[in-house]
This record gives sequence, structure tokens and C-alpha cells, in this order.
Amino acid sequence: MSAPYVPRVIATIDLGAIRHNLACVRERAAPARVMAAIKADAYGHGAVPVARALEATGVDALAVACIEEALALREAYLRAPIVLLEGVLSFAEAQLAVEQGVEVVVHSAWQLDLLQRLPAAAPLRLWFKLDTGMHRLGLPPHAAPALHAAVRSRPSWRFCGWMTHLACADEPDNPMTARQLEAFERALRELPGPRSIANSAGLLAWPQARADWVRPGLMLYGASPLPGKLGAELGLKPAMRLESLLIAVNELAAGETIGYGASYRCPRAMRVGVAAVGYADGLHRALPSGSPVLVRGRRVSLVGRVSMDMISLDLSEVPDARVGDTVQLWGPELPVEEIAARANTIPYELFCGLTRRVHFVYAD
Ligand SMILES: *Cc1c(COP(=O)(O)O)cnc(C)c1O
Repeated sequence: MSAPYVPRVIATIDLGAIRHNLACVRERAAPARVMAAIKADAYGHGAVPVARALEATGVDALAVACIEEALALREAYLRAPIVLLEGVLSFAEAQLAVEQGVEVVVHSAWQLDLLQRLPAAAPLRLWFKLDTGMHRLGLPPHAAPALHAAVRSRPSWRFCGWMTHLACADEPDNPMTARQLEAFERALRELPGPRSIANSAGLLAWPQARADWVRPGLMLYGASPLPGKLGAELGLKPAMRLESLLIAVNELAAGETIGYGASYRCPRAMRVGVAAVGYADGLHRALPSGSPVLVRGRRVSLVGRVSMDMISLDLSEVPDARVGDTVQLWGPELPVEEIAARANTIPYELFCGLTRRVHFVYAD
């Protein structure tokens, strides 16, 4: 950082932690191959640096949501196979996918029609996604034999495998997962080709779902997809530390109120710090008073509403806190799962919600 300003909000990404988490996936899922989900800018962690770290560790494929995300990886000279999880949306995208050697998922008949208009020699690589009960994307399982025949009739096409997605993998007692596994197995009993079923929750909670390829996302970033469990309890290392700094420390008298709506009233004389981070950085406005934040390694409480650029903190327990001190919003010392629960959401949404105002630093 050579610019003459102080970054207000810093996300430090530990690429070593991401490599460690990939090794955890491999340990659990071997001999399955690993398709790492790095869509949505690697869940807010930065797609290119994360992809480089994963590629250096020999990840088998990278999965993204759309062609722009795939092209950004190719432009950064990433060479690993790339899978477009939602497939192509137009003929032009199909041509791009072929040119760039990007594997496409086919989830609907209209996509297959579109791909069949490609020149006969086009070396398309494709997956088929079957809908086994999620009822979002996927072709009907009974169509599998016809889909397989469609691939065989195009010698230039390379078939990568069959995919499905679990709706309730994070609920170990939900019978839905067993029903989906059974529907997938039944549809493909007579058909060749690799199978891929499990996201992070699936591969952690359902050993039967590991199949030939696993598709972890969240756990690569060190967060737990299982309710009531922390990433660290699963052997994972949180990869992101989100920090800001104190820009004011005020002494307030009992009865004074703090922030918009004067929603918090000091029950006693209090030291109140202001940290330079708000919802414009991606800190959820839903975080209520009482949510934890770390100052000088100690837990303090957020007080009053999260504003666009600031939050207020009760510093009564940290009398030595002063302007310039680092404030951790989440990270290895303050689990993102806990913050997400306070904001009534999930770690996925907190990670993806970081905005362009956040300054990223990569550590190894
Ligand atoms: C995002 C995604 C994943 C990864 O999910 P996590 O819960 O983050 O592990 C896997 N499969 C598909 C189809 C996805 O869209």
C-alpha cells in the first residue's frame, strides 16, 4: 500500500487457509475429484487470487455461475478446467464457451437445442444437470437416456458427467436427501459417465453423496455450511479477516442516545467508540445492538444502528481502546457464522455482500 491514505476497511485473505481447506475436502472426499465453487468472485474473496491458489494445489476444476466469470479467469491465464454451473444463456455464449474450452452445464431442453446449432465439429464439453427434487434447475431424470443418446450422436462433444443439486444437505435428519440420492441413482443406473452431487454440506454430512466429483464452495473459505457448527470445529481455517479501525472515542453520560433513530440509550456513563465501517462496505444493517465486535482482541458490543459508513461500539470493557485501534468484524478470532446468525442470515451472504469500497490484501 503506497497510496497516501489509510484504508478504512480491509479484508485480509489467507490463501494458505484456502489451500488447507482444499486439503480437508480431499481428505474427506477422496478419491472424488474436486470442482471448487469460486462463483461470485470466490464468495467475495477475489476469484483470480483464490483460483491461482487452488490451481497451484492441483484443484481438478473451478466452477463459476456465468460466462463473464469464466472469461475473467481465462484472461488471468488460469488453465484449470472451468465449469459454467448455469450453462449458457445465448448462442454467442455457447460459441465463447467452445472457444475458451469452458465446460457447460445443460439444465434445460432449450439449452440443448441451442448447443445443437453449434457446428458439427465444435469440441463442446458438457455436463447434464438432473432435477431430483430441488425444483430449481435440471432436466427430468427420466430424460437421462435420451440425453445420453444426444451426446453420443455428436462425436465432437465430450461428455463430462451428470450433476444434481441437494436442497436440504445441511439438515442431517431430513429425508429429502435420501430421496434425491435415490432418484439420481435410479435415473442413471444403466448409464455411464461421472456423477457429481455434493456441495459443502453434502460432502460433510452425506458420505453417500460424494460420488465422482464434489463441488465445495463455502467450506473452502473456512466457514461451516452446517447450522450450529463452526468451520473450526470441522477442521477448517477461516480465510477472511474483515477489519476496520476506531476513528472516534466519546464519553457519553447515562441517558444519552446513539446514532440514527436514537435507538440505543446509554444505561450508564459509557465510553463509546466509532468504527469506520457500515452497510456501504457490506456490514449488514440488520446487525442488532449487542452483536459482538473485537477491539484489542476483546469482545465488545455494537450499540445503535449500523449506518452507511460507521458503527458505534460500547468500549466500557476496553478502557485502553483508542483512535486508530483495529476493529475486527469477523475472522479467525470472531466466527463469521456467529455474525451471520446475529444478522439473521448465512455466511454466504455476508461474504458476497462486501462492496468495492473494501480494500483487499492477500497473505500467504
Ligand atoms: C454454489 C454451488 C455449489 C457450492 O455450494 P456450497 O454450499 O458453497 O458448498 C455447489 N454446486 C452448485 C450447483 C452450486 O451452484
